This record gives sequence, structure tokens and C-alpha cells, in this order.
Amino acid sequence: MTEILPPCPECSSSFTYQVDMLFNCPECGHEWSSEIADGQSEVRDAVGNILADGDTVTVIKDLKVKGSSQVVKVGTKVRGIRLVDGDHDIDCKVPGIGQMGLKSQFVKKVAE
Ligand SMILES: [Zn+2]
Repeated sequence: MTEILPPCPECSSSFTYQVDMLFNCPECGHEWSSEIADGQSEVRDAVGNILADGDTVTVIKDLKVKGSSQVVKVGTKVRGIRLVDGDHDIDCKVPGIGQMGLKSQFVKKVAE
């Protein structure tokens, strides 16, 4: 644990400590909430790269398109992905198929 805690906003003491989601200052007794951006869940691809809106990915296995006989072939390159909440956490337009949702675990980020 090498976390660096912010100094107390009241007295600038650097001896602050954290209890759950609150910071505490032992010098002046001030408590304040630690607003660490934790609502931001990271979406990672099959090999652990962090994905972002606008990335290009390739599909790493054949994926059946729900409700049709079409298959997104392994190696299909998908440009301009958009991250969304849900089971299929990537919203994108697959060439030859159209708008659909993909699971991040079945894609790999491509460096362009
Ligand atoms: Zn303080």
C-alpha cells in the first residue's frame, strides 16, 4: 500500500488517514468524503487492454448474431466502438452486419 492521501483541506495537515469512504484529519478532526472516481468502471478487452470510445477492435472468435443466421467472423475489424453499460458492453457497427452489441471479452484492441 503506497497510497498518497490528500492533505486536510482545513488545516493542510498531511497526517490524514482514510476510513472507508471518508478521510479523517487527526490534527483538527475534520472529516471529508473521498471522491475517488469509482463510478467509472473500466472495460477491458480479452487480453486486458483498456478500451475507450472510438477504439478499433478485432473479434477474436466467431460470434453468432442473436436472432439471425449471421456470424461475426473471427478477425472482423470493428471501428469506432462505443462503450455502454450492460452485458454486451460495446456498441458498434460491424461491417456487413450492422449495429450490434459485442462483449468486450471477445474482442482485442487494435493499435492503428
Ligand atoms: Zn485538519
